[in-house]
Amino acid sequence: MTLHVVVPEESEALPFTVEPGGAQVASKEIPERIHQILAGLLDGGAVVAPLGEDSAARAERTVGAVHEAALLDHLRGGVPEGRDSVLDSAFSAPGLEQETPVTRGVWPAALGAAAAAVRAAELTARGGGNSYALVRPPGHHAGPGWYGGYCFLNNAVVAARTLREEGVARVGILDVDYHLGNGTLACVQGDPTLPFASVHSSNAKDFPYVFEPGPGLFGVESDPGTEGFLALVKDALAHLLRQDAEALVVSVGYDVLAGDPHGSWTLAPEVFGPVAALLAEQRLPTVFVQEGGYGLPSLRGAARALALEASR
Ligand SMILES: [Zn+2]
Repeated sequence: MTLHVVVPEESEALPFTVEPGGAQVASKEIPERIHQILAGLLDGGAVVAPLGEDSAARAERTVGAVHEAALLDHLRGGVPEGRDSVLDSAFSAPGLEQETPVTRGVWPAALGAAAAAVRAAELTARGGGNSYALVRPPGHHAGPGWYGGYCFLNNAVVAARTLREEGVARVGILDVDYHLGNGTLACVQGDPTLPFASVHSSNAKDFPYVFEPGPGLFGVESDPGTEGFLALVKDALAHLLRQDAEALVVSVGYDVLAGDPHGSWTLAPEVFGPVAALLAEQRLPTVFVQEGGYGLPSLRGAARALALEASR
């Protein structure tokens, strides 16, 4: 089976982000992440597929259904004349200070990522098999009316809604990033056609800092280890299958791996082999969507391990 990889045009890193406490630091969400992951996916047998001619237009329509108009207006044109960026807590998740700036490059970059998610979903819906939207900026912290945590538009929800439009009755969203996909959770809440499950750190020192328990949320306060992590992924997947998911969108975060500057667990890159094998066993059409993963040395090996199983 071919694993199709869709990669949007490269966009610049943000000029800074803000740490808890207020210090401005260099963004770790940088183009080199994608270079490393793409190399790994190709090592594992994946094939690059181009964007469609109408992918951006379809993405724009879909983000209009996922996000509030005020947020989209802010991302499109919120940077005042004479400024390079703006940091506005009016558009941050409930209870959080804004730590991710909006620049003029954000809208085309975020829309490009959403377009790649649309295209990946179309390829899977129409051709069967698996696809991988290798995008930055990531999306799972972007909620209906907010952005943050490097995320502006929710690419995973865009992919899931595209699969729905293409005729899939129920799409399960499985989030295996180190951080809770608080944006995804809020975007799909109450929608029985888009069940959500997440494995994540629920340690209060980790973004988004506040963790309400709920169905499908498999949070752990400390490193689960390889076997523990795989057991949690299995439980999360079972939660989606119980709700009759007919296709999967998988929010992939390599920040669960050892050495990640935004994580604290010690998993080896090869863990993504058994994760992808577990998914492949379900024989459901699957769209992978890139979320986090900032430890450059581990990215290529993790993506290769995933692709070897996802393209079998
Ligand atoms: Zn993350």
